[in-house]
Parts: sequence; structure tokens; C-alpha cells
Amino acid sequence: MNSPDSNSNIFFENAVRALNIPDGTAELLRRPWRELTVSLPIRMDHGGVGVFTGYRIQHNGARGPYKGGVRYHPAANRQEVASLASLMTWKTALLNLPFGGAKGGIQCDPLQLSENELKQLTRRYIMNIDHVIGPQRDIPAPDMGTNAKTMGWMMDAYGQIHGYEPAAVTGKPLELGGSLGREAATGRGVIYVLNELAKEMNIPVGEQTSIAIQGFGNVGSWVAQFAHQEGYSIVAVSDIESGIYNSNGLNIPLLVEHLAKGVGIKSFKGGEVITNEELLEVNTDILIPAAIENTITVNNIDRLRCKIIIEAANHPITPEADEELQARGVTVIPDILANSGGVTVSYFEWTQNVQQFQWDEIRINTELQKRIKTACRIVQDKVIKENISYRDAAFQIGIAKVAEAVELRGFI
Ligand code: NAD
Repeated sequence: MNSPDSNSNIFFENAVRALNIPDGTAELLRRPWRELTVSLPIRMDHGGVGVFTGYRIQHNGARGPYKGGVRYHPAANRQEVASLASLMTWKTALLNLPFGGAKGGIQCDPLQLSENELKQLTRRYIMNIDHVIGPQRDIPAPDMGTNAKTMGWMMDAYGQIHGYEPAAVTGKPLELGGSLGREAATGRGVIYVLNELAKEMNIPVGEQTSIAIQGFGNVGSWVAQFAHQEGYSIVAVSDIESGIYNSNGLNIPLLVEHLAKGVGIKSFKGGEVITNEELLEVNTDILIPAAIENTITVNNIDRLRCKIIIEAANHPITPEADEELQARGVTVIPDILANSGGVTVSYFEWTQNVQQFQWDEIRINTELQKRIKTACRIVQDKVIKENISYRDAAFQIGIAKVAEAVELRGFI
């Protein structure tokens, strides 16, 4: 199985060749600028000591302070975090945000830790990476296994050392300087991308178009809610345990209400229970992976029955599967474009914090839509002009901008 590291490398190398980037610059962009691995001892609830491993990897900061989420997951490791950090560099460049790319992670299972243990772990993590972060250096945000509450703890731990500084992290609760619209931003952005490219992809916006979504966490659940609002028919959704399918469309508001009781998706009565594998194989126009990496591989690609895949998750398709999908005429909208709504509203949050000002939600969503529209148009134009895939176009645009900044700053 491919590691996420090899995924991003292959897409990166393809772009380097197409752009004729000089060897020295390519070598610089291939590697992270700085990698930090930290040990995180905490007092567990049972009285013993648990020692966890944390990472903060800063890939490239030529275009601005490093920016990227922090993932709490049992599989978080150096290679995965480094790969996700490079994706952030290309994503912020593609969206023309004044940031570089970074990613963080703690190898842990957040579902097995108490709130007290998670809070200690988060504070210890920030203390141990404090010397490389800050509002003008590197700004963490949520990712898998972390949320607004985690970001509030991070902001507080940073503030204990430096004084009150909300711009040090994004994705915070509203009461602590968080932005309106941040929690839903990634999912909202996915639907903006879908609507923007629908015409070129020959997809009617509305109930004639069916969607299946893998993962029902922050990203997946908001994708489902916005898609439902737009009138699309959501035929299947899943979480880590199982999924649910209804060819006539699921009642998403009822499902969300049901899940708010803290129960699993399979106890919802509005459809037939399916497995996670079966979710990928349902008959649907659009498949939206919104969970983890490497879920679509050469092993299951023959059983997919969708026309379009929109990568709400990072790296959900292996490079071999990606190549094969292209050959079969399946359109893939890549992660760095599809899920860019999150980091874009993180940028708005940081801007508001720096200015000590708050935008209303209409302004947030209007600005988000404008930026996503622009990114979609430049990618689409390149796709048409050069007859290349959306992934190749998006990677080339992002990487070219970073290479130019590296050059202009005289890094080498
Ligand atoms: P989350 O932790 O809120 O939710 C993850 C969901 O995936 C949950 O429903 C979980 O049950 C499900 N899941 C986990 N393992 C699975 C498996 N093996 N098979 C099927 N489902 C599984 O995480 P999130 O914040 O929604 O992030 C999801 C993806 O989106 C990640 O790839 C993340 O990097 C990416 N992403 C997140 C953001 C953001 O703002 N949160 C922004 C950009 C990209």
C-alpha cells in the first residue's frame, strides 16, 4: 500500500517535470524545511504516566507563515504528517492565501482518552513546539480528531507563555475569537467547488444528481448538509463503523438530528445498512471521500460506479488508482482544490484576529465563494487549455507559485 508520502511525491514529481522547475528548487520543494518530533508525557487518569509522540512539520514558508491542521490519530506518523504539510503548501498557494504549509499530529486515539488527558496532551504539545509557532510563524488549526475545543486549549497554552494571542491558532470557539462559518467551511467549500464546476462536469445541480459520502465527521457531515440544501440527492453516508444507503435519497436533517443523540449511523432507520466498502461501490453520480487517506486503491477501483470523485479528504486516492481512474474517464477533483474552504476561512479568522475585528457570516461566505470560484476558474482554464487532469492543473498552479516565491526571496 502506498504511503501518503509517496502519493504527494508522485503528483509533485509530475508537476516538476511539466513545469521544468530547476533541480535545486525542486529539491528544496521536495523536502520539509523543518521537522520537529516531540515526546509528550502526561499523567493518565489511572495514575500512571503515558508518553505520546507529537510532530510539527513545516514544509515551506516562502509565501507566508506556515499554516496547517493538527491531527490526533493512532496512525499519525512523521511520513504522513510531512506529506500532508506539503499538500498545505500547494493548497495555500493555489488559493492565493498569504501562507506556507505545515501539518501537525499526535499519535494517539482520541476516542480512548478522557477530556482531562486530551487537554493535558494538547497543552504539553503546544509547550514543546512553542518555539516554532506563533501568529507570524506557524498557525495550527483543527484536522482529524481535533476540533474547536482543542484549539481553545492550544490558544490558552500559547497565551500562558506569550500573553493573549488569538491569532496564534485558528478554528477556535467563537467566544475566543473564532470565525463565524469556520466549522462548516470545509464542507461548504466542497459544495461551492461542485456547483462551480458542475457545468463543465455535465452535472445538473439538484436532485437528478446523486452523491455518496464516506466519513461523517466535521467535513462529511457539512458536505451532506450543504449538498442537501442545494437539492442534491444524498444516497449513502458512512462513518468508521458502517454506512447507510437509500437510492431515493437520505433525509439528512433527520440523520443529523439522530446522530446528535450520540448514536451510530447504522441505527438510523431511513435506509439500508451497508459496510464502508459497500459505500464506495454504490451506484452514484458523485463519490465524496471525506474520511481518511488511501481508501480508493487499485484493489477496489473495479467496483466503483461513480462518474466523479471529489476529494474532500486529503489523499483518499492512491496514485495508481488515480491514473487508472483517469484512463477510465472518471473525473477527479483533487484535495488541494476540493477541501480548500477550511484553510481559506482559517485565513479569514487569522485576519480578523490580527485586526481585532469580526466579520459577519455573510461576508465570510461571500469572500469564501469568491476565492473558491477564482481557484476553480484558473484550474478549469488550464484543464481545457492543456487537456490535463484537474489534479495536474491544480498541482502545477500551486507549485509554480511557490517556486516563484522561493526564487523571488532569494532562498537559493
Ligand atoms: P473527523 O475526525 O471530524 O471525521 C472523520 C470521519 O471519518 C468520521 O466520521 C470517522 O468515523 C470517519 N472515519 C475514520 N476512519 C474511517 C475509515 N477507516 N473508514 C471510513 N470512515 C472513517 O475529521 P475531519 O476533520 O472531517 O477530516 C476528514 C478528512 O478531511 C481528513 O482527510 C482531513 O485531513 C480532511 N480535511 C479536514 C479539514 C477540516 O477543516 N477539518 C480541512 C481540509 C481537509
